[in-house]
Amino acid sequence: MESTAKCSCAKENLAAYEVWRQDDNGNQVMIEKACCEAEALDRVRLFTERGHKQLYWAQAVSNSR
Ligand SMILES: [Zn+2]
Repeated sequence: MESTAKCSCAKENLAAYEVWRQDDNGNQVMIEKACCEAEALDRVRLFTERGHKQLYWAQAVSNSR
């Protein structure tokens, strides 16, 4: 199993995207940071395929700070 990401963005911005999870109680928790949308979506797919009955999604981090 390779652990390297498939993305080709050179990880310049290591926290551009976040992976979030919502559990059965409606609690939303950020579980991982990702360097780009492709990476984030790949993580979402992996988490979803593990079969947890929870909702995962990728979300861009706002630059409003
Ligand atoms: Zn990337």
